[in-house]
Amino acid sequence: MAEVGETSSQKLSQDVWAKFVPSDSRYCDVEISSNEVVICSEIISSSLDKHEWCKITRNSDHSSATLQNKSSNAILVDEAVVQNEEVVEITCGTEIIPGPDRAGYLNYRFKVMPGKESCKQQLKIPIDVEHAKCCICLNVWHDVVTVAPCFHNFCNGCFSEWLRRSQDKRATVLCPHCRAVVQFVGRNHYLRNVEQVVHQISLFTMHLMNLLARFCVSICAFLISQRNYLE
Ligand SMILES: [Zn+2]
Ligand SMILES: [Zn+2]
Repeated sequence: MAEVGETSSQKLSQDVWAKFVPSDSRYCDVEISSNEVVICSEIISSSLDKHEWCKITRNSDHSSATLQNKSSNAILVDEAVVQNEEVVEITCGTEIIPGPDRAGYLNYRFKVMPGKESCKQQLKIPIDVEHAKCCICLNVWHDVVTVAPCFHNFCNGCFSEWLRRSQDKRATVLCPHCRAVVQFVGRNHYLRNVEQVVHQISLFTMHLMNLLARFCVSICAFLISQRNYLE
């Protein structure tokens, strides 16, 4: 028996954007890597002839395709009869039977592979609490502001106080951290989120410490009671 699911284009597994997945796992998936491909297949179990059966054209939305029946007989797409040369839209999950009825044909499911767009990894930035501290009050930033051009961060309150004092003394304001002349100061909305996370983590740590402390107190109380009991 000839190979089932052979495509007329060269197989390039790295760029497979869709597959025809046969219902029978003994057969291979038909991988589709080109934007336009004619699938040739030995589809009739009783025949050894390999012939074209459909042309798949990738749609611009990248999640569907246009299927054109290239076989001489009708095929079934989601139970609908598609005659020779007729065109039908297929999307992920569409069932395709390469013949006019279910009997004697292997049925396939069209499957669109997850695109690079949907695999975008979430941006992860490791945050060290020590780097989320204001150098004026030495606490984790509260209501963060960032100064330019050096991009150092401070609590809004701390920096406002620094600003007030600096303005009393001189015409320019220097960064409390690096002494660069501050040209601009603005609220930092990204770091405000970081600040919230850091606060949540410290609240959680405090909660854990409290639990641990209570546990230690209970253990001590228990040990003391045991000692009293033994005496
Ligand atoms: Zn501060
Ligand atoms: Zn600075």
